[in-house]
Amino acid sequence: MRTRALIVSLLLAVPALLCAQAPAKPSPANSANKMTPKTQTPEGVHRSALVIDTHADTPQRFVDENFDLGDPLGSGNVNLDALHKGNVGAEFFSIWVEPTLYKGQYARRTLVLIDAVKQQVARHPDQMELATSAAGIEQARRDHKIAALMGIEGGHSIEDSLGLLRQYYALGVRYMTLTWANSNGWADSSGDIDDKAVPHTKEGLNEFGKDVVYEMNRLGMMVDVSHVSDRTFFRTLIISRAPVIASHSSARALCNAPRNMTDEMLRAIANSGGPGSKGGVVQVNFYSGFLSQAYHDAQLAQQPEMDKAIQALKDKAKADGKEVTYAEIEKVQRQYADRIPRPPLSVLIDHIDHIAKVAGVDHVGLGSDFDGVSGQLPEGMDSAADLPKITAALMARGYSAEDCRKILGGNLLRVFREVEQVSKELQAESRPRITEKQPFDKWQKQ
Ligand SMILES: [Zn+2]
Repeated sequence: MRTRALIVSLLLAVPALLCAQAPAKPSPANSANKMTPKTQTPEGVHRSALVIDTHADTPQRFVDENFDLGDPLGSGNVNLDALHKGNVGAEFFSIWVEPTLYKGQYARRTLVLIDAVKQQVARHPDQMELATSAAGIEQARRDHKIAALMGIEGGHSIEDSLGLLRQYYALGVRYMTLTWANSNGWADSSGDIDDKAVPHTKEGLNEFGKDVVYEMNRLGMMVDVSHVSDRTFFRTLIISRAPVIASHSSARALCNAPRNMTDEMLRAIANSGGPGSKGGVVQVNFYSGFLSQAYHDAQLAQQPEMDKAIQALKDKAKADGKEVTYAEIEKVQRQYADRIPRPPLSVLIDHIDHIAKVAGVDHVGLGSDFDGVSGQLPEGMDSAADLPKITAALMARGYSAEDCRKILGGNLLRVFREVEQVSKELQAESRPRITEKQPFDKWQKQ
């Protein structure tokens, strides 16, 4: 997410339909006893887990603010100190190209951001390691280093070229979100699906879009369905031979935002990947506007006033013969966001718990969206250093140590491995094929 996406999603958001949730029923409890071994305390469980966060927007800071991971956090959520304190084993840095600002230079900006991540790893060889596989994540852990990975956020980065897609893979990119808040001609976005002025595909993916998904399967790049329209979501799940991920998405039943996943979608992800697959994973987004219905509604209410303030800023800049910068707009957005009380941390845990109950505990993980949400995070979640609080809260709700370790990273690692396995199988096939009629028809919306 980014605040620009927020505007779009707010404009498109349908009126609140908050479903009251039944009180959480604990999963198979890890019954506390007096002789709890250290690995069973929340702190011990968190330390023993391979923690994987699938979405941080820090690369914008690397490039635009000359931010180094060794620097103090400033207004951000991710630096080396915070990652260490949060026991983060692997961070997927988001390669996100703002589609309006960089029109005509998507590939260039993509490469600049990829380079920025690699520069960070090069600057901190004692603490970081670039990883491009599930085994690489585990190796970094054995080396006592943080694994840095990359995911592209928005298919417009490939500029309609499978060649570019393959080169991004070659550079180390291991997932791609099919769209950001903008539809790209071959896949549709939840961010503009109701905008009649934007051209959309007929079935959610056009022929090229299907080729993209197939090529990602063949390469071993995880297919990410965060941000896509519901139709594109279901179409992608029919096409994909490998299980899919939602790198940073929460539950629509708890907060009715178009970027969140309905219960049907959560179950579909759990069942994605074809016969014999162990299914995909939904990585919960920490953004307050996706977690709390009250927060989401408050944003909707102040939207007209904020739009006016931003317009005034633009008008003034124009009168002065200047361009208004993205940072200036973000400052106004932050000022408005700061007026809304932060939701409690429990809302984040509610989403994890909901997805674990609807899709299964094997199909939920963490995709923070750190550094991409203008600091709009629940109380107590200020940086990656606060991640152990999630483990403590899950255990307080009865989640076992084993379940916590799955949620913290084990599930993502399993899916990543399976994506690599499917890639091997596809590359062994004599000719490419797309499985249009394979077993997912049941997930299609009627
Ligand atoms: Zn996003």
